[in-house]
Amino acid sequence: MKILVTGGAGYIGSHTCVELLEAGHDLVVVDNLCNSKAAAIDRVLEIADGSLRLIELDIRDTAALTEVFQSERVDAVIHFAGLKAVGESTDLPVEYYDNNVGGTISLLQAMDAGDVRTIVFSSSATVYGDPHQVPITEDFPLTATNPYGWSKLMVEQVLKDLQASDERWSITLLRYFNPVGAHPSGLIGEDPNGIPNNLMPYISQVAIGKLDRLRVFGDDYPTRDGTGVRDYIHVVDLAQGHLAALDTHATTPGAHIYNLGTGSGVSVLEMRAAFEEACEQAIPYEIVDRRPGDIAECWADPSRARVALNWQATKSLMDMTRDGWRWQSRNPDGYQE
Ligand code: NAD
Ligand code: UDP
Repeated sequence: MKILVTGGAGYIGSHTCVELLEAGHDLVVVDNLCNSKAAAIDRVLEIADGSLRLIELDIRDTAALTEVFQSERVDAVIHFAGLKAVGESTDLPVEYYDNNVGGTISLLQAMDAGDVRTIVFSSSATVYGDPHQVPITEDFPLTATNPYGWSKLMVEQVLKDLQASDERWSITLLRYFNPVGAHPSGLIGEDPNGIPNNLMPYISQVAIGKLDRLRVFGDDYPTRDGTGVRDYIHVVDLAQGHLAALDTHATTPGAHIYNLGTGSGVSVLEMRAAFEEACEQAIPYEIVDRRPGDIAECWADPSRARVALNWQATKSLMDMTRDGWRWQSRNPDGYQE
């Protein structure tokens, strides 16, 4: 198939491009590089052979995007492009709605004009808000607590409404839990701007000596060691989930929704200990106040994806930390030479 990947130069997109190329697909990546570098695509092509064209374009430019769909015979779209920092979304809500919701609407218009009606969308476990219990199944109530989360929920609604209005569409909503780690080659990985917000990149930067210590946001949650518990999933497993979704649904119209997680939770202190083992050094830490808006625990029931997509995460916590550390230690400044 020829697949158009929006946001394909980003963290999850680049790993998915590798898996897609290795499976023999042809790729067109559309990315405005607002949170990524073209070097990531060069690295993708170092890892995997195949056909990949990078087009530097903002998906909100509907006219230019429509031209891409006219000139390339695209079969399906995987839609990663968007802004993703929760805290920033509270300060810049209009930018987040414009990019994430407006960008998706522009993409759908260009797809429709190009007769392409298969899309896989990057949603997030954030759409479950503070779940009443764990593990979380796809039919749990949906809500959001910040503009980023609302933008994901709004896009989910737009896609469901579109499919209900025109049954030719195949839409797949993939709700990611916590993607971490890097490709085992050490060539691609997460390259955050500034001080990372997320746990794994923060710990990596402590290990590499850029940050002095981990700040653990609260040790008084009702969890096994008092720290927050999340369902961390290796980014390569996550990338493979997109292939499984396309294999299953590229030609089956409908609205398909899946959790992509491992089905088990890891605490902040457990993640720190696993990373210490991977990098063979101590990760200093201190306990500080809870981060506003954080929930105690969140993990997936991934059984729907296992049954319907024949997909499940196979990589362990040690794979996540070892591969994350390999990327960080070989590329201390990310893609910056
Ligand atoms: P990322 O920032 O690394 O990748 C997003 C890519 O989209 C970047 O390359 C960026 O340059 C591009 N982009 C942004 N706006 C664009 C626009 N208007 N036009 C064209 N390109 C644009 O993020 P990621 O971690 O790879 O996340 C990918 C998707 O998965 C996002 O939609 C994100 O919300 C979602 N998601 C991520 C996580 C996570 O923890 N990383 C969790 C759940 C969901
Ligand atoms: N966390 C932490 N210190 C950090 C970053 C995160 O203690 O510097 C904790 C956070 O409170 C949560 C877990 O690590 O319990 C995962 O946080 P992250 O931001 O990576 O993901 P999310 O909150 O979106 O699930």
